[in-house]
Amino acid sequence: NKWPHGQRPGWSESDLFSRNKTMGFQYKIVLNLGKILRGRQDGADQGKKQAVVVSAMGKTTNALEEIWQALPQAGAAALLVDAILEAHFKVSKALDLPASVLNKSTADFRSMVDSLAGQQPSSATYDSIVGFGERWSTEIVAAHLAARGMNGEWVSAWDLVQTNGEHRSAMVHLTSTKDAIHAAAKNWHTSLPVMQGFVGATEEGVPTTLGREGSDFSGALLAEALNAEMFCVWKDVPGVMTGDPRKWPAAKFIPHLDHKTAEALGLAGAGVLHPDTMAPLRRSGIPLWVNGFMDPEAKGTRIEGDTVPDDLPPLWTLSSLSDGRTEVRCIGASEEEAKAEWRVQFPQSHIQSVGLDAIVPQCIRFIVKN
Ligand code: ASP
Ligand code: MG
Repeated sequence: NKWPHGQRPGWSESDLFSRNKTMGFQYKIVLNLGKILRGRQDGADQGKKQAVVVSAMGKTTNALEEIWQALPQAGAAALLVDAILEAHFKVSKALDLPASVLNKSTADFRSMVDSLAGQQPSSATYDSIVGFGERWSTEIVAAHLAARGMNGEWVSAWDLVQTNGEHRSAMVHLTSTKDAIHAAAKNWHTSLPVMQGFVGATEEGVPTTLGREGSDFSGALLAEALNAEMFCVWKDVPGVMTGDPRKWPAAKFIPHLDHKTAEALGLAGAGVLHPDTMAPLRRSGIPLWVNGFMDPEAKGTRIEGDTVPDDLPPLWTLSSLSDGRTEVRCIGASEEEAKAEWRVQFPQSHIQSVGLDAIVPQCIRFIVKN
């Protein structure tokens, strides 16, 4: 019996997660992750090594940002702290893990928030607080993989990913990071390393973060340092699509994409690909699979090589501007084609200032007024 207080308490999923559906979903993601890795280990990739990079669970990073913002009002953060810790204990419990997995890190978190209470938030304290999301998620995933006989081993990105001191958007020192990973990897022969995305530390050991949604970039760096045969990211969409289906109704799944177009798509603001992620993969020629957690058996999008697929349709990104207009980017179409396609999708809207984009190569940009 793994429960410290005797009998495992009776619970149902709805009791556990009635107030936090996003977190309820997280334990299923961890289960799925375990199944995926086990499937690979026992199947096509037998004998090959795997490594895992994990970001924070659900909306944890946002919750931690709120706690950080609430620091000046002593006491105001307390409820938020309780809620986020409780949510993680529930995920851990739903996975049948002992509370001891999170005891140290959650206590560390409480004492850190206590010691900072009343202070003005600084970008240094941001990095110390917000990185806990990745600490907890990796503790849970590593413990789960260990409990399922897969030798999950928690490894610290604060030791391996070395950055400058630019808090909240630290630059990674590539060479020293690679060296640190190589040295650590000597001990990973029988274990399955589980590292945090998004975080790193300066040479002096001060925690930093790489910018929101930076975990894919961490994964790409680990893949590059380990000379990986392939790098796979798991998303809540089935793969790369021709647009965000919530904003672009005609969005279609793309089975195959080249590195350069994928990099452009990330730059254009497609949430599914962090703009920095492609560079390490492109320069090292590592293929990237973008897969969906909802259907792990499905094929996903494979990104590799320098040849743009012949049948690649135009790719779209839409982002809202503060004045209510929408900034639209279209990759892989002429100005006329892009405008025509836009009018088919949104006949009511007004297209303004069409031209070549200044940021993304070979991309048409325009502004739309509804
Ligand atoms: N947890 C971090 C964030 O939400 C990093 C990531 O998700 O990639 O920004
Ligand atoms: Mg995140």
